[in-house]
Amino acid sequence: MPMTSGDRNRSAHRDVIVVGSGFGGTMAAWPLVEAGLDVLMLERGAWVGRGPHSWAPEGTVTRTPHYRTDDHYLARTGARWKETTSCSCVGGPSVFYGGVSFRFREGDFAPDPEIVTDSGALWPIAYEDLRPHYRDAERIIAVAGRRGEDPFEPPREGEYPAALDGLSEVSERIAAGARARGLRPFRLPLALNFEAPPGTRHHCQSCATCDTFACAVEAKNDLATRVLPRLLERGLELRPETGVTRILVEGGAVVGVECEDIETGTRYTLTADRVILAAGALGTAHLLLASGLDELNPAGDLVGRYLTRHSSGIVFGSHPWIARHEGRFHKQIGINDYYFGDPAGRGPPGKLGNIQQTQTPSVGTVTGEIGTLAGMALAPLIRRATGLLVMAEDRPKYDNRVYLDGNDRDRFGLPRLRIEHSYDDRDLAARAFLFARAKEVHRAAGALATYVHVIHTFSHALGTVRMGSDPATAPLDAAGEYRGVKNLYVTDGSALPTAAGVNPSLTIAANALRIGRLLASRVGDSAASATKGG
Ligand SMILES: Cc1cc2nc3c(=O)[nH]c(=O)nc-3n(C[C@H](O)[C@H](O)[C@H](O)COP(=O)(O)OP(=O)(O)OC[C@H]3O[C@@H](n4cnc5c(N)ncnc54)[C@H](O)[C@@H]3O)c2cc1C
Repeated sequence: MPMTSGDRNRSAHRDVIVVGSGFGGTMAAWPLVEAGLDVLMLERGAWVGRGPHSWAPEGTVTRTPHYRTDDHYLARTGARWKETTSCSCVGGPSVFYGGVSFRFREGDFAPDPEIVTDSGALWPIAYEDLRPHYRDAERIIAVAGRRGEDPFEPPREGEYPAALDGLSEVSERIAAGARARGLRPFRLPLALNFEAPPGTRHHCQSCATCDTFACAVEAKNDLATRVLPRLLERGLELRPETGVTRILVEGGAVVGVECEDIETGTRYTLTADRVILAAGALGTAHLLLASGLDELNPAGDLVGRYLTRHSSGIVFGSHPWIARHEGRFHKQIGINDYYFGDPAGRGPPGKLGNIQQTQTPSVGTVTGEIGTLAGMALAPLIRRATGLLVMAEDRPKYDNRVYLDGNDRDRFGLPRLRIEHSYDDRDLAARAFLFARAKEVHRAAGALATYVHVIHTFSHALGTVRMGSDPATAPLDAAGEYRGVKNLYVTDGSALPTAAGVNPSLTIAANALRIGRLLASRVGDSAASATKGG
């Protein structure tokens, strides 16, 4: 099953090495492979097998081997240090993600003083610069959506590339509850395949094991299902289970990487004209710091800083009428009425964020997390629950950062990554405001009780190696090139100066496509001038 291309010479010099096969890596590789360049992608994780086990309670990402506990980072989000990790597999977390595929709004690219404060975070590009790349990213992962319903939808070229299915009864009720509160609920854009003929593989069965599970029938248009196979056919070389341990630089330019074959433990080096770092907002900063490259960057002190992750949580509502709906898809409706602030002036001033339906975990999944007895005791409530995920934009802050612990080593022998992150009062107030509004929607939809689950993960980590026009405040320039090291690029979530208030993957994808295209044209230009000169 696993696809790994080519029997090429393992150590041959490449045009481009891409580190990481998530959104940032795969989408940056797309135009480079299309341009006929020799591209090698190195991915720490393995392919995720698909089958009935994918939908079993043990298929939720944290209970699979792809959530590697031997790769852990140490995170302090309050007083205590806790182990945390991220998902490692071909396609990155897209394999387990929820498929919600929003464009950032036009206003997200302009600085909101309530969010940016003194952080110096400033997008070097506008929505219009990303717009064609959003369009193409949506096509590549076939986003299904409905134009014209989201009250703050940014300008778009036409309809979504694919169509959604009908609303479930639960979603109808939630939408009616939102309308009763005077809101304008709309259909969430989803990278799910509703268009394949029913009964065939790839047709979305609207099951409840979507978010946090790999799709057994590959109806989620994740990168491993939809994008990497196409790139492999067109000549991409992908090496899974290969961890990059160091970025190699000579004379101010990147020359390659050092990596480890995880199965054998063999270390070797690979050379390339250009390297794209896309190991995620935690992994990319880790590699830059462990390779000492912060010292070469004029904004080196900022590498690893300004980490954002959204201020999020889920408000579950217990609805007596829901009993017969366990096992159905509940992730169809979004609410953006408070995105740029509350029209009634409640809550903190400035941008707030999004509310969206989310999947309710099954009794089996909850039991696996909290134990059989507690899970069974809660079963009647879980079966009647549906969730509203609240995603408030958090402020980029200097003190929220990742850094190296010189006294501890990870499995690759690198200094262990430590994460320090705390929310400020405004981040918490924005979330609390959205929690309160989500509870009102639940009640209007008939909920008898609500329960808030705060999200503590780093699944939306962003901003650690941000782009910007000012070399003193941004480690990357507008083209995603790492200042101080020629031909080294960063295309993952680390590059985003601010988090906006919606799910980030489509913006990471669009920005990576943009940078990949710039890079392909730069390579083309230098080849043309070499030919002229020669
Ligand atoms: C359960 C879950 C649900 C989510 N749902 C949504 C959603 O519905 N919509 C949305 O927009 N976002 C969602 N997200 C967030 C989204 O998945 C991330 O924002 C996005 O994947 C980040 O992309 P990236 O390119 O920055 O990094 P990633 O996609 O994390 O890719 C990084 C890749 O680099 C690899 N890597 C790391 N270090 C190394 C190394 N040293 N050597 C080699 N390879 C390395 C990793 O294994 C990984 O494959 C979800 C995340 C999770 C976990």
